[in-house]
Amino acid sequence: MMKINRKMSRTKEIIQVEKWISLWSIGQEYSLEDIKQIKEHDFNGVEIWAEHHLAEQAFKYANECDLQIGLHLPFHDLNLATQYDEIAAYTLALTKKWIKKLAYYNGSHAVIHGGQAMASEDLDKVYPKMIERLKELSDFSLANNVELLFENQIPDGLNYMHILPSNIEEWLDVLNKTNTKACLDVGHLAIQGDEFKDTVNRLGGLLKSIHLSDNDGKSDLHLLPNDGTVIQNNIINVLSKQNYQGPVVFEINPYKYSLKDILEHPSVKEFNI
Ligand SMILES: [Zn+2]
Repeated sequence: MMKINRKMSRTKEIIQVEKWISLWSIGQEYSLEDIKQIKEHDFNGVEIWAEHHLAEQAFKYANECDLQIGLHLPFHDLNLATQYDEIAAYTLALTKKWIKKLAYYNGSHAVIHGGQAMASEDLDKVYPKMIERLKELSDFSLANNVELLFENQIPDGLNYMHILPSNIEEWLDVLNKTNTKACLDVGHLAIQGDEFKDTVNRLGGLLKSIHLSDNDGKSDLHLLPNDGTVIQNNIINVLSKQNYQGPVVFEINPYKYSLKDILEHPSVKEFNI
């Protein structure tokens, strides 16, 4: 009897992979009505895009629609791995401002990019600085009840500059040294040439969010699932086997698809990926 109960509770956990959408996917102009549509299509949460003109408004809309809230922190013009102290100070201050805002709305997680060494030869010099800055932000986030998620990026194939992280080993090293958790971008990973299942296994309990989009294995196209060649329709399966319980965030190209395209897509409607 006890055995059956334990099995049942495990089944319950499997259902807790959550359907989320990145608001980047719906473009710069949106209304409360759009966010209501998202709620009506059974999404559990939204990841607000800090660089959107309407990002402030988005927090209020999400709250009003009773959606969970995450945040993609700003990254353009910012660089955690900069060699310039002034740029680092600006990056840290602006990032903290957004983490505070997220905390005010009881948001769960914030996704951050690692920036880049502007010449690959500079990596050794800036790597410890980047670690120190990210650790500071991780501590700040935890003090505000927010989980900071460090996202995998697409490496510079020509190695002119070094984007952080550029491979799985580097990613794990940063996660361990900074006490951050992982946001795994499925499209970025495919272009890097790493396998989804292996990576999920290697990340284990560090994995806290998935950014989901399809592509052709070469460019970061942010296509709907099955419009590219990368998504193999086993995402939820692989995640469930790892007992993953976090969000799967559809992060879809707003210059190619409308909100309606996304909401009516079978992979979204049936959450079949
Ligand atoms: Zn990102």
